Amino acid sequence: MTTDPQNVTLYDTYTRETRTFESLEPGKVRMYCCGPTVYDYAHIGNLRTYVFEDLLRRMLAMAGYEVRHVMNITDVGHLTSDADTGEDKMVKGAARTGLTAWEIAERYTGAFQSDLAALNILEPHVWCRATDHIAEQIADILEIERQGYTYVTGDGVYFDTGKLKDYGYLARLDVQGLNAGSRVDLGEKRLATDFALWKFSPPDQKRQMEWDSPWGRGFPGWHIECSAMSVKYLGELFDIHCGGKDHIPVHHSNEIAQSEVAHGTRLANYWLHGYFLELDRERMSKSSGEFLRMQSLIDRGYDPLAYRYLCLTAHYRSDLKFTWESLDSATVALGRLRQLAHDGGEGGEGGAPDPGWLADFQREMRQDLNSPRALAVVWGLAKANLPGAVRRRTILAMDDVLGLDLANWLPPDETVPGEVLALLADRDAARAGRNWVLADELRDRIQTMGYEVEDGPGGSRAKRR
Ligand code: AMP
Ligand code: ZN
Repeated sequence: MTTDPQNVTLYDTYTRETRTFESLEPGKVRMYCCGPTVYDYAHIGNLRTYVFEDLLRRMLAMAGYEVRHVMNITDVGHLTSDADTGEDKMVKGAARTGLTAWEIAERYTGAFQSDLAALNILEPHVWCRATDHIAEQIADILEIERQGYTYVTGDGVYFDTGKLKDYGYLARLDVQGLNAGSRVDLGEKRLATDFALWKFSPPDQKRQMEWDSPWGRGFPGWHIECSAMSVKYLGELFDIHCGGKDHIPVHHSNEIAQSEVAHGTRLANYWLHGYFLELDRERMSKSSGEFLRMQSLIDRGYDPLAYRYLCLTAHYRSDLKFTWESLDSATVALGRLRQLAHDGGEGGEGGAPDPGWLADFQREMRQDLNSPRALAVVWGLAKANLPGAVRRRTILAMDDVLGLDLANWLPPDETVPGEVLALLADRDAARAGRNWVLADELRDRIQTMGYEVEDGPGGSRAKRR
């Protein structure tokens, strides 16, 4: 396999260029992705961003890099308005459900992780919660204060964006224009672009989530958590920082501002942003209560991996309009790929991937993650005149990046009953314990139920005889 790491290009929002990727440390990539605010379920638009990040990670692994992937869980401090006003989303979510803020954090973190698993998204190597890193955030704010970039108002400690010459460079923000245009709603903030580093608890109220700090009891602003945790787990300058495109003008601009002051770096060498899944407002807005999430698709009979396939059909830097028809087409396409990969294995495993087709596929993926063109290569391969086993091996190698879990799919008529699966698991355990007699006995019992046991490199499975 050709795995020349020099051949990866990525579009960097910071420089507005497609750059040849070079990792800071040879052969290793350190990558941080902004995670969910766990006050509700993720909608399918949010999940598109995580599919894009997973594709990026898998592509880098294919290109020969060892990737370290960190994702945060925002469980405090994300207010309903980007202007640092409004309610804390967690407190609002708690009021909606009748649970505590801590309980909903637990509930929706679990739900989010299940969504990722359903989409075959690889788990980050590090999950980090904002509420577990209050001390690190306070330390960063202290440093920013020491450098003279903060001021205190009646409701919190703010970052003084007016003092930072290139504030908003990532978004090419028209800082002067923004600040000239907004005199309303500023409160005690000096500039509209200033943002909270620490918010005080209301004096007459005990918040569910609050901590002591050098400035008084309260909670951290949303942006400081990502700066503090990414530096803790990846260092002061790491390779790639990802998120959805809505993060460019506020959240990521603020993360960079904080890091420039506290650590003297722009935090990440490459800034990558996933574009949006477009859906009508009603079905996307969490406040409407009707929004589409993974379970909504499952309830309508869709396979989560069909949604993953749909995401692959669009380049991550273009918006994707969601329609049920497009999800239907994705379902059909995924079905065909599954069948193709499966049929190639009928004559037994064997064969090696076709190097030409695989190289074409990899080339497309390495060029700024061009998944639509990579899929076109997959469909070219589907039609090519190749032995079935070679086609299967090639598709499965491509699927290391596509992540459609093709290797584990069985046609519906080969769905194995639970009893057989239980015997198979017992047999695996017997084999692991080198109890060959019991293992053979279990194989015979499986056979009498009409199934053949196959032991492959990926484990054992049962097939109808
Ligand atoms: P949140 O939980 O609101 O912080 O959002 C989680 C992630 O989803 C962030 O990276 C957002 O940028 C991203 N996101 C929000 N809306 C969409 C959308 N419609 N399509 C794709 N990504 C989105
Ligand atoms: Zn973030």
